[in-house]
Amino acid sequence: MDAEKTIFKKIIDKELPADIVYEDELCLAFRDISPQAPTHVLVIPKREIPSVADLEDSDAELAGHLLLVARDLARQLELDGGFRLVVNNGPEAGQTVDHLHVHLLGGRNLTWPPG
Ligand code: AMP
Repeated sequence: MDAEKTIFKKIIDKELPADIVYEDELCLAFRDISPQAPTHVLVIPKREIPSVADLEDSDAELAGHLLLVARDLARQLELDGGFRLVVNNGPEAGQTVDHLHVHLLGGRNLTWPPG
């Protein structure tokens, strides 16, 4: 069963170390292992939801919670000049871990459009 766990589920279960910056009953936030900006944090639900496409209408509160936690972390991590939230969905968007996650990126000028 363990072999089927995603990397993020192992982090939630504290089987893999992570630089955790926030945790509550619904979600966990930790620093990305391969940061794409000076600040790069991932906010993930503790419940296993593979992607945005798998969210149910009944997950509205949880989905909103992830956004509000990202907002609070942006303040806490002093991303006063701006920040970007990214949620990759599916292989064509570059999603590599099948556990919903919100990237919080900041600390440098972020170009647009993204790649
Ligand atoms: P995505 O490409 O949107 O699926 O993002 C997955 C992210 O997870 C990437 O930015 C990876 O660098 C990050 N990542 C993968 N493994 C770990 C890990 N063990 N700890 C922290 N971040 C990770």
